[in-house]
Amino acid sequence: MSMRKTAAAATVVLALAVTATACGGDSGTAGDKPKGGDVKSGTYKVAKGVKLDSPTLKKAQQRGKLIIGAKADQPYLGFVDTEGKRSGFDIEIAKMVAADLGFSEKQIEFKTVDSNVRETSISKGQVDYYVGTYTINDERKKQVGFAGPYYEAGADLLVRKDEKGITGPDSVKGKKVCSIVGSTPLQEIKKSKYGAKTTELGKYSLCVKQLLDGQVDAVTTDDAILKGYAAQRPSKLKVVGKPFTKEPYGVGMDKGDKALRDAITDALEKHIKNGDYKKAYDGTLGKSGSSYVAPKTPLPRY
Ligand code: GLU
Repeated sequence: MSMRKTAAAATVVLALAVTATACGGDSGTAGDKPKGGDVKSGTYKVAKGVKLDSPTLKKAQQRGKLIIGAKADQPYLGFVDTEGKRSGFDIEIAKMVAADLGFSEKQIEFKTVDSNVRETSISKGQVDYYVGTYTINDERKKQVGFAGPYYEAGADLLVRKDEKGITGPDSVKGKKVCSIVGSTPLQEIKKSKYGAKTTELGKYSLCVKQLLDGQVDAVTTDDAILKGYAAQRPSKLKVVGKPFTKEPYGVGMDKGDKALRDAITDALEKHIKNGDYKKAYDGTLGKSGSSYVAPKTPLPRY
């Protein structure tokens, strides 16, 4: 890849956010109204007697629970509130897939895994699968397997409400733009054509804090994530609204476990068709101002 050409004067603050279990401190910036949306628990019918030639599933069945990697600081997508409750669209996707694999919500252990450690966490078997704004791309496919896409986002910019100068990716020259280590929007904004000065952190909530504090001029990542932050603080933040990449979201899993990949693809297709997907979307991400687009089925298989 030719994205090694970094913009001048990149401020690299590697706050390497290592896998952490959910706790209050993980959940966004101080003063947030914790919101992830709501979908009634028990919405997805739990399958019985699931048999699959999947090493990952067999291990999960033996231990009696599924371990699912997710985000903790993305309002309406993957969020943990001050009481430790997880919510958001990705959390719902994780639950509907789990139900088809024979696991109820009570049999799920969510583990917070930030962007920079996703591939390691999946390939080391620390999570059975991962649902967290995870863009499917060829580079990542060398290390992990993907089912989906179940949603398509695009990189955009979050700025302070009174910002006039930043109107799109073509106006960030010389500006301080914060993004996340291990994310595709960071790789994109580092391309020399944009001329941005990047600040690279381990968690989106840390970038948002820097934006609110005036330490950076913008945050870049997927519009779906940024809209969640803007919805939390509408008087302080706004999304520019000019997406400049395509970020198709997939469920990540062990690269070699084809049986699991097929089963998760089946599950996604089923819930898209039976209306669960739309219900989950309306109850979560839809509340942050993202507009609904039904994913195309059949989903790709490989
Ligand atoms: N979808 C992008 C990615 O997978 C950005 C969001 C994230 O870091 O999870 O890199």
